[in-house]
Amino acid sequence: MIKVKFYGTRGSISVCGPKFQEFGGNTTCIQITDMKTNRIGIFDAGTGIRDLGNDLVASGHEQDQIFIVFTHFHWDHIQGFPFFTKAYDPKQKINIFTMGKGKNNDEIKGLFTTLMQSEYFPVPFDKMGASFDFMHPDVLSGIFGPLQVKITANRHNHPGGAYGYRIEREGKVLAFCTDIEHGDEIDQNVVELCKDADLLIHDAQYTSEELMVKKGWGHSSYEQAIQVAEMAGVKQLAITHHDPDHDDEFLLGMEKQCQQRFPNCVLAREKMEIEIK
Ligand SMILES: [Zn+2]
Ligand SMILES: [Zn+2]
Repeated sequence: MIKVKFYGTRGSISVCGPKFQEFGGNTTCIQITDMKTNRIGIFDAGTGIRDLGNDLVASGHEQDQIFIVFTHFHWDHIQGFPFFTKAYDPKQKINIFTMGKGKNNDEIKGLFTTLMQSEYFPVPFDKMGASFDFMHPDVLSGIFGPLQVKITANRHNHPGGAYGYRIEREGKVLAFCTDIEHGDEIDQNVVELCKDADLLIHDAQYTSEELMVKKGWGHSSYEQAIQVAEMAGVKQLAITHHDPDHDDEFLLGMEKQCQQRFPNCVLAREKMEIEIK
């Protein structure tokens, strides 16, 4: 019913090289496809959105309006945006969606005009070509605009704040919680958001040892991601936002440890697809 495709699984900064072939080097970007209607939605615009856009063009995908739902606007979640091919198509409407009590259109648009101001990028945001709309509902749950899914959001702990999302369609549930630092205890609101999800995609940038020295950096350990999955009773767990210092060998070892405790768990790989049926 819903297909998830990872276009970027890396956290903080993109990486490349022979040690990063299995899990990939692009930063956070996920495509969600409603398999019945073939409509897509996008989570975050890390460097992975470049490949996503190219794939959409190559497959001839046409969609009147594309939603990009943002968890937050740290670099690793927006840096691919200026390279999103569909944003240069004058026929394309793109809806930038984020939760934003108290935010207004100009503030959100300003994040993108700044990202693309001439000191940083040759093409200004307003000259890209596509027409942009901004949505920032101040209620945390609902079916927003033409989106044909129920979205519930939860603001969680991360420097500057970030949102976790729960997507529900025809009884199937996807939860996406990245860039989250639980603190000493697992955040119960996150557990609630992920309750009985068919698939939970959760940040696990660190090992428990690394987390001890990275307190305040805004991320989780894989033990915490598994704890959330267990507490929320989720069916499948996909771990993402891999640390740029964790190469394939390290992540394969980490995946084995995760699977020993929570068998239906994978570490997300770039271009990996998971169907929620
Ligand atoms: Zn991040
Ligand atoms: Zn972040």
